[in-house]
Amino acid sequence: MDCLFCKIINGEIPSAKVYEDEYVYAFKDINPQAPVHVLVVPKTHICCADKIAAENSVNVAKVFEAIPKIASTLGLTNGYRVINNCGEDGCQTVKHIHFHVLGGKKLPETMA
Ligand code: 5GP
Ligand code: ZN
Repeated sequence: MDCLFCKIINGEIPSAKVYEDEYVYAFKDINPQAPVHVLVVPKTHICCADKIAAENSVNVAKVFEAIPKIASTLGLTNGYRVINNCGEDGCQTVKHIHFHVLGGKKLPETMA
């Protein structure tokens, strides 16, 4: 499958890995929007949040189980933001579901 994040997960394309387990891979965003900006992805290809269903939601649950561990490793003791962009109006550019974890400073309140 011609998917950028599948290629990052399987090592075809290099990345700055910050966490990995059986279900989840996390790496630094190439264009950080905050002092800490990590992408957390399920290893299973799911295109977007709109395609989460009973058959695949365990992969998303595993992402959210990993996030506190990743946040702790990255020193995000004062909080952080988790963002998912979905589809055209959400400005999703990579069609493999991913969760941005942003922190390392007080983030702006506005989202849109
Ligand atoms: P989206 O806009 O789809 O929610 O987020 C895609 C994110 O992937 C962007 O923040 C972008 O900077 C990041 N990104 C795109 N290509 C690469 C890449 O090759 N490596 C890494 N580490 N991040 C990437
Ligand atoms: Zn993929």
